[in-house]
Amino acid sequence: MLGDRQQSEVETLWEKWFIWKDFIPPKYSFTTWQALRNRLPTRDRLGCRDTEIDQRCPSCTTETESVDHLFFKCTKTREVWRVIKTWAGMRRPITTIPSAIKWFLKERSGVTVIRKARSLALIATISLMWRARNAVIFDGATFEPKHLIFQIKKITYATLYSMFPHETVQEHLGV
Ligand SMILES: [Zn+2]
Repeated sequence: MLGDRQQSEVETLWEKWFIWKDFIPPKYSFTTWQALRNRLPTRDRLGCRDTEIDQRCPSCTTETESVDHLFFKCTKTREVWRVIKTWAGMRRPITTIPSAIKWFLKERSGVTVIRKARSLALIATISLMWRARNAVIFDGATFEPKHLIFQIKKITYATLYSMFPHETVQEHLGV
């Protein structure tokens, strides 16, 4: 049996292997890495230092914004997951980034193209959700689940098409 410290070191390694994959563009991986390191400036964290700061989630404007809320509990982002998970055949509930990664790393079944599609979709979803959140705050944009879903699929397809024959991708993921 591994001790707690060794266990967490192993987990950190797993996360690294999962995030910094050669087929995943680093610009997308970066947000997941920041979230795991607790380095994303979500409003709950900023609010610890300055009580004047509005801590509400900019997308739903009802709950406090934390990493878990923003990426998994917010009604706006849950709509994105619902569609992306169905599309990529992810049946497990995804409630935190570490638990999602653990599941992905243990999940050995399924063809390679699907496994890569799921990793890409997860990383791209986290990255695009963060960008969309920033656009709401800094550019006054509206959080549009449909637009995000389209972009996530586009990125995933583009990367898969660079690695696999088009027919293979279409056979397993649809067009
Ligand atoms: Zn929210």
